[in-house]
Amino acid sequence: MNSLSENTLALINKTTLGAIEVSPIGAFDDNYIWYIEDTETQQCWIVDPGSAEPVLKTLKSLNNKSLSGILVTHHHHDHIGGIDQILKVFPDTPVYGVKSDRVPQVSMFVAEGDTLELSANLTFEIISVTGHTRDHIAYFSKNSKHSFLFSGDTLFVAGCGRLFEGSAEQMLSSLKKLKALPANTVNFCAHEYTLNNLKFAEAVEPANQDIQEFKHSCIELRNNNKPTVPTTIQQELLINPFLRWNDPAVTKKAAELAEKPVLNDVETFAQIRLWKDRF
Ligand SMILES: [Zn+2]
Repeated sequence: MNSLSENTLALINKTTLGAIEVSPIGAFDDNYIWYIEDTETQQCWIVDPGSAEPVLKTLKSLNNKSLSGILVTHHHHDHIGGIDQILKVFPDTPVYGVKSDRVPQVSMFVAEGDTLELSANLTFEIISVTGHTRDHIAYFSKNSKHSFLFSGDTLFVAGCGRLFEGSAEQMLSSLKKLKALPANTVNFCAHEYTLNNLKFAEAVEPANQDIQEFKHSCIELRNNNKPTVPTTIQQELLINPFLRWNDPAVTKKAAELAEKPVLNDVETFAQIRLWKDRF
């Protein structure tokens, strides 16, 4: 299996959401930098450019397309490391993100509840999703037909981000917000962690047939060097142990791990997350 940065830079694996198209740009071993295009206005944006090179090469390959904006979910280097170099090439590009000295490149501040209108066809709602970091945000867009989400390192396919700066309680409350989004919401996360996550999901719920079926389709995708991202909230509700804290099989496993019989949502989530850390 090739690392993602060796993938072709052509925008394959496109997801079409009405006038909006979203494509992954592979970076490092397993990061996805998301390229978003409004096919009517021809504007484009990128999400979490941890590396400049694949982004600049991609834009060059698209008839020297210029950039309308950069969206940042959180401050980790593999999400922002390419911004400075991209701004050297496209100096006036607005950079959207939270106000923080950890991402000094941000020029357009956004926060929970804000509406960010980027084009006639693209409006995001900002959702605060603390847990992985203390100021992580997600970008959610919804119109009459399509809903989609850029969740950074919060909601992975069959997994969730590590708790670097937040408590289990904070991460759970963030995931509750994402779980409540429309079932058809397409979730673009920032890493290809799916096969490992599914091994863990399987260990949490050995009898879950949805996990088995999904695992087979993901193995097939990865064997063909294709991304397993995005999925939908609906799919995640069936297979993601970190959205299934109130499923009997998951609570039973968490109780076994905790060696006590009845756990609340936070305790269940915390036990499963702790197990994943040492899995
Ligand atoms: Zn991160």
